[in-house]
Amino acid sequence: MKSVDQHLADLLRLATPLRPFDMHLLDAHDATLAQDIFSTVNLPPWDNSAMDGYGVQSDDLRNASEADPVELIVDGDIAAGSSHLIQVVKGHAVRIMTGAPIPPGCDSIVPVEWTDGGIETVSITRAPVLGQHIRYKGSDIVSGTLILEQGVRLHSAQIGIAAAVGLDRLPTHPHPRVVVLSTGDELVEPGLLLSPGQIYESNSWMLAGAVREAGGLAFRVATVSDDHVRFMQALEDQLVRADLVVTTGGVSKGAYDTVKEVLQRLGTVQFETVAMQPGKPQGFGTIGPDDTPIVTLPGNPVSAYVSFEIFVRPMIRRMLGLKEIYRPIVRASVRSPVSSPIGKRSFVRGVIEVVDGRYVVTPVDGQGSHMLGALARANALIVVPEDIDHVAIDDSVAVMMLGEA
Ligand code: AMP
Ligand code: MG
Repeated sequence: MKSVDQHLADLLRLATPLRPFDMHLLDAHDATLAQDIFSTVNLPPWDNSAMDGYGVQSDDLRNASEADPVELIVDGDIAAGSSHLIQVVKGHAVRIMTGAPIPPGCDSIVPVEWTDGGIETVSITRAPVLGQHIRYKGSDIVSGTLILEQGVRLHSAQIGIAAAVGLDRLPTHPHPRVVVLSTGDELVEPGLLLSPGQIYESNSWMLAGAVREAGGLAFRVATVSDDHVRFMQALEDQLVRADLVVTTGGVSKGAYDTVKEVLQRLGTVQFETVAMQPGKPQGFGTIGPDDTPIVTLPGNPVSAYVSFEIFVRPMIRRMLGLKEIYRPIVRASVRSPVSSPIGKRSFVRGVIEVVDGRYVVTPVDGQGSHMLGALARANALIVVPEDIDHVAIDDSVAVMMLGEA
């Protein structure tokens, strides 16, 4: 049997970051930055006021107090956006607004709360510290410095800094288009009536969501039957819009395991058993004129989900150009014993929580690879290594968090 790590390495070789292009800021949100970005401006671009108040010479106010306020002559107003600067001279002040440029001669800002708010003269009851409430040029970003690193996911604050330094576009990797296709003659679309022997199709809906959570664009294909010709036809139809194809079902050793039977013949897709539980039967390769990567996951819903998390999610994140492609792994103590076959890596569905400041994980009831109900209650996978067959209560285990990352 092939190891999980070897299989993952083989799959990641098929996943290369998609060619970047310049995206408008709104579209770049949530995409991955393809190059380091340096600022060509200072932030703030010039010294400006952090408060609504008065620009003064601090020397004039050295003795100001509640009991003995100092009165200054107000020479006018400077608003944000103003380019008309009024020189501050001894014994005088200017009224200044937040974000307005500091005029020559001014060395400190007195907030309006320390004054009587006067317009022609102002009475000030406290002495400012030199430089108080002045936001100096370059105190946030100095021109020429790195502001965004290649490989970061562009969340709101990263879009904000790009806009603040005047960039309207950013070089980003596009979201990989991932076609999700499930096979099986027994499968019926949710919302329709079931006939005897039929079940509702769930994998493609679940995996389309998982694709989005990984940062991909999901295209769900309505269930394809186990007919060889129809399956190949559906696959070929989808290739035009796929950076990656993910199928579920039809890869085990049954008599109607279409995916395996059809794709094996192409010679570019190989099928293997991977030493893991759940998710043993796995296939991967490339298809079509553009050598589009394809990953064939097992049909059992929990196997499909776990295999997606372990193999496909990192591929999508690699295609996105992200530096960090894996889910976070933490250590937790386990609340009930876990057994695992020697020679296989087990991914046990569990609920992780923080108790008294420490992670604690509880395996959910129902570890069968068809048990979606149990999966839906879980928020983590307990990873039991190949050489361990038993984990006792309170043992420390590695846990992969399935939540937001
Ligand atoms: P297969 O790998 O096609 O042999 O399927 C294994 C098991 O998973 C069978 O019980 C199937 O009915 C079930 N299964 C396969 N595909 C799906 C799907 N898309 N949705 C729900 N169950 C599925
Ligand atoms: Mg099937």
